Amino acid sequence: MTILPQWKLARQARLGLTFTVIVQDGAGLIKPLTALLCLLLPLTWSASSQAKPDNTLACPVPKSQLGEYGPALAYGPALAIVIDDLGYRLQPAYELIELQSKLTLSIIPFTPYSKRMAELANQAFLEVMVHAPMETLEPRPWEPALMSNMTEQEVSQLSLDMLDAVPYAKGLNNHGGSLLTQRHEHMSWLMNVLAQQHLYFVDSKTTAESVASRQATETGIPNHSRDIFLDNIREPQAIEKQLLKAEKIAQRDGLALAIGHPHPETLEVLREQLPKLRERGITLVTVSELLEMSKNRTNYARQANQAAE
Ligand SMILES: [Zn+2]
Repeated sequence: MTILPQWKLARQARLGLTFTVIVQDGAGLIKPLTALLCLLLPLTWSASSQAKPDNTLACPVPKSQLGEYGPALAYGPALAIVIDDLGYRLQPAYELIELQSKLTLSIIPFTPYSKRMAELANQAFLEVMVHAPMETLEPRPWEPALMSNMTEQEVSQLSLDMLDAVPYAKGLNNHGGSLLTQRHEHMSWLMNVLAQQHLYFVDSKTTAESVASRQATETGIPNHSRDIFLDNIREPQAIEKQLLKAEKIAQRDGLALAIGHPHPETLEVLREQLPKLRERGITLVTVSELLEMSKNRTNYARQANQAAE
């Protein structure tokens, strides 16, 4: 495995005029430059928020201007893409950052690069999630996982340790979990931890019998179930087809959530297809933004129903 000693990130930022910044991590320039961008962008936020939504990565602006789960920037069909199973190698992080697209990276805790990868993603303004290992129906040699023989105290403690191991996480999805996501009790213990930490939940839906999303809703946690797995078949054509399916769902329902993995084939398809997706009017959003949009729609529908009654 080769790890790039230095990497280049070309970023277009809209500050009235457009300019490109080349940042070199190894030279230690990333922090001062990103800090400068963060300082300047909020000043232009109120003016630019009236403009057509921008698909480039947005610099985080102060929380008070965003609401709890961040801005919903998309007015048309929106797609959130989560790349999970990350943490064992650094190289995919660089490649995902270089796509300059609003992706959400879900990182397995306690892996060799879980912390470093979360830091890199955060520096590049990508959203971070915890990809929490959970017990599967067929026993596998998992990383430390949430198990059905654990007590409430053990589930809570391990969940908190997992969150600690992946800084900047805004939410969590299950890695495996075909057994544990069927357990109401264990899911409610996990959701209580997420509620305390103000985090969202994404059900990877590794089993049709999962009760995780229902439990999240009952606990009052923003949540969404995976609509599409991009790369169950690791062939570019098959991945492209899955991405197209995700696009169709976004067009039909207004929003969709796809999960992919850091396979070279998946990265290749994303590199090629994401610009085309944007041209066809699909806006890439973070999972936070997707959940915010979903909440707004539910509120709107509720108000419309009340008005009609
Ligand atoms: Zn996984």
